[in-house]
Amino acid sequence: MKHYPVIIIGGGASGLFLSSLMKESLLLEKNAECGKKLLVTGGGACNITHDEAPRDLVLHYHEKKNFVSTAIFSLPPERIREYFASLGVETYIREDGKVFPTTDDAHTVRDALLNGGRIVTGYEVRTLKKRDDLFIINDEFTADAVVIATGGMVFPQTGSTGDGYRLARQFGHTIVPLRNALCEIRVDRDTSALEGISLESATLKVGKHTMSGPLLFTRRGISGPVALNLSRYVEGETDIVLKLCDISAVEIKAESGKTKCANALHHITGLPQRLINNIIPSKDRNIASLTREDIGKIIEVLTAWRMKGNTREQTRYAMVTCGGVSTKEIESRTMESRLCRNLYIVGETLDVDGETGGYNLSFAFASSYLACRSIAAR
Ligand SMILES: Cc1cc2nc3c(=O)[nH]c(=O)nc-3n(C[C@H](O)[C@H](O)[C@H](O)COP(=O)(O)OP(=O)(O)OC[C@H]3O[C@@H](n4cnc5c(N)ncnc54)[C@H](O)[C@@H]3O)c2cc1C
Repeated sequence: MKHYPVIIIGGGASGLFLSSLMKESLLLEKNAECGKKLLVTGGGACNITHDEAPRDLVLHYHEKKNFVSTAIFSLPPERIREYFASLGVETYIREDGKVFPTTDDAHTVRDALLNGGRIVTGYEVRTLKKRDDLFIINDEFTADAVVIATGGMVFPQTGSTGDGYRLARQFGHTIVPLRNALCEIRVDRDTSALEGISLESATLKVGKHTMSGPLLFTRRGISGPVALNLSRYVEGETDIVLKLCDISAVEIKAESGKTKCANALHHITGLPQRLINNIIPSKDRNIASLTREDIGKIIEVLTAWRMKGNTREQTRYAMVTCGGVSTKEIESRTMESRLCRNLYIVGETLDVDGETGGYNLSFAFASSYLACRSIAAR
């Protein structure tokens, strides 16, 4: 069996980043090429991080702010940018704070990470065992330290098919239930006529969680940042409430009685005419003919449109996995397993998911950086 000090399982964002830092490592990737998911990030342009102070950046990881803090503070956005610059990848900050390579091409990022340790592609890790102080992989390689960087279970067409959960379970790790996240929410209303309508700001409530921001209607539901970020809270059929605007009965009644309802609502709210025409029941009546009950219904649709949402069919399209290896069992300063010495778990395999905007790659890189620092210190 061939021995390496460090073996990295998975050549995605986190595995490649670690490999680029550790010349003495061996990286095993099951696909014929590394970083297939990295290549589709940011619409192929690769949104590598977000230009934000670490104390603000950590707020984009939902309930995992504390767990990700050491990683994010140790490798904040400017250090990620500096590191890529040292590899020859210049970056720029978009108006909304998202950071991309100046080439707007994810290949630039992926290729820059290929010149670290040894990489073997087309090699699937099926078994991982530990005997005394040595890890044994597929009865073919041995290592002093192993890093599981196999990603999550969404978008499996890029290779992340949940293998890391199985490997981690063998060492006693708990897998927090897995859900699709950063994905479209399908709703039980016919939204086909609304497809393509985007709103700069809407307020969405999913279960107990509320968020405001840009929203996009799709053929079968809702997407856009606010729906993507809240999709992690959808479990089975979940109650969702959509607030499109603020409007009161007084404002509606103040419009001229002869005005067509749809026109009046467009005038008051600024919402797109196509949206109003398709969701308001009394759209063709004039204002004077509306009863108190009619006005109540209009206000309800615009300010508290209730529907049921689900994300069941989104596994192939979701951008991140919610759930994964329990962070309670991982040392947050090093990413080392608390259950097995010298076993490290990084990136999306962990029960950490960030919002859309470069946060998931930031954590993939930063968690690998901590693992590297810890392994190097041994
Ligand atoms: C369409 C899309 C767009 C995205 N855009 C962005 C973005 O712009 N910015 C952002 O921050 N995040 C983005 N993300 C999320 C981000 O890509 C992931 O969170 C990140 O890639 C996770 O990195 P990882 O290394 O943990 O896993 P991955 O990148 O999924 O890598 C895991 C690797 O492990 C390999 N592997 C799995 N099992 C085995 C095995 N048994 N043996 C050997 N190899 C194995 C896989 O083939 C894969 O290459 C996007 C995701 C998607 C799907």
